[in-house]
Amino acid sequence: MIIVLTPKATEADARQILERIEKAGLKPLYMPGVERIVLGALGDERKLASLQLQANPMVESVKPILTSYKQVSREMQAHDSQVQFGDRLIGGGSFAVIAGPCAIENKDQIHKSAAIVKKHGGIGLRGGAFKPRTSPYSFQGLEEEGLKLMQQASLEYSLPSVTEVIDASHVDMMSQYVDAFQVGARNMQNFRLLKAVGQTDKPVILKRGMSATIEELLLAAEYIYNEGNHNIIICERGIRTFEKATRNTLDLGAVAYIKTKSHLPVIVDPSHGTGIRELVSPMARAAAACGADGIIVEVHYDPQVALSDGMQSLDEKDFEKLMRGLLPFVKAAGKVIA
Ligand code: PEP
Ligand code: MN
Repeated sequence: MIIVLTPKATEADARQILERIEKAGLKPLYMPGVERIVLGALGDERKLASLQLQANPMVESVKPILTSYKQVSREMQAHDSQVQFGDRLIGGGSFAVIAGPCAIENKDQIHKSAAIVKKHGGIGLRGGAFKPRTSPYSFQGLEEEGLKLMQQASLEYSLPSVTEVIDASHVDMMSQYVDAFQVGARNMQNFRLLKAVGQTDKPVILKRGMSATIEELLLAAEYIYNEGNHNIIICERGIRTFEKATRNTLDLGAVAYIKTKSHLPVIVDPSHGTGIRELVSPMARAAAACGADGIIVEVHYDPQVALSDGMQSLDEKDFEKLMRGLLPFVKAAGKVIA
């Protein structure tokens, strides 16, 4: 429920109402605005009815939130959220390009890849150290050693870093090395993991599960938000459909839809979304055109020798072209490249 107070209501009035909400067994939220204080009550809404808040002279209106996800919904917050990633803000008017290899392979590789990302205008460095591979025989990542290598590259090129976390017990260890967490498609509904990253203050890039509905994706975001971490970036990375020509079906309709329903920033992963190098640039432009707040792209100094996802990785020339081609689309969408 959203409880809008009258303009004359004071913070003390609000606190009184919040106390009643909490006593009724609901989670109280305090959201002071410029003109009015807005309160929230989360939980079993039948409990709220008994409070008769409408009868309070300081209450202007009591409205139910119609979506199953509450705190991440636009009903709860009309304006766009912005997430601080390094010294940049993601969401709200800028378009962020985060790039880097699928996996951190060695010192030379992550440094060369970071140099390419920096040189051509990327604002963040990606790289996996714990790789959730489909086959147990595929390269699984360098783990903590990889995080150390990425941290060096991140510092050397002043690029904040993001890496995938696959296990709740790794969160504290990984926090020392990286600026943001990625929760991958395979873990979107790993609720213990969502809660664990929700208890940190680091930005979380939450990727859509390969067969997750938009509602399930936003409910997964709600888990993180509900733990107190509001620094969430939603990522559309394609879903599994009957189509086999592309690795996944990149659901850009979901981007436009989520932007109407949630205040969280939304980015697109055209690399995993298509699985085909030649399609990464066109779909990056499409992402900008449909209102995304950025992209996360796989870049490798030499995709031919990449230990994972080489066929969808861009080399320096391709990445430079992507950045150049993106500009007019970002401009047309009313944004600026971060
Ligand atoms: C990745 O970003 O390297 C990755 C494994 O992505 P996803 O979880 O979207 O498959
Ligand atoms: Mn990958």
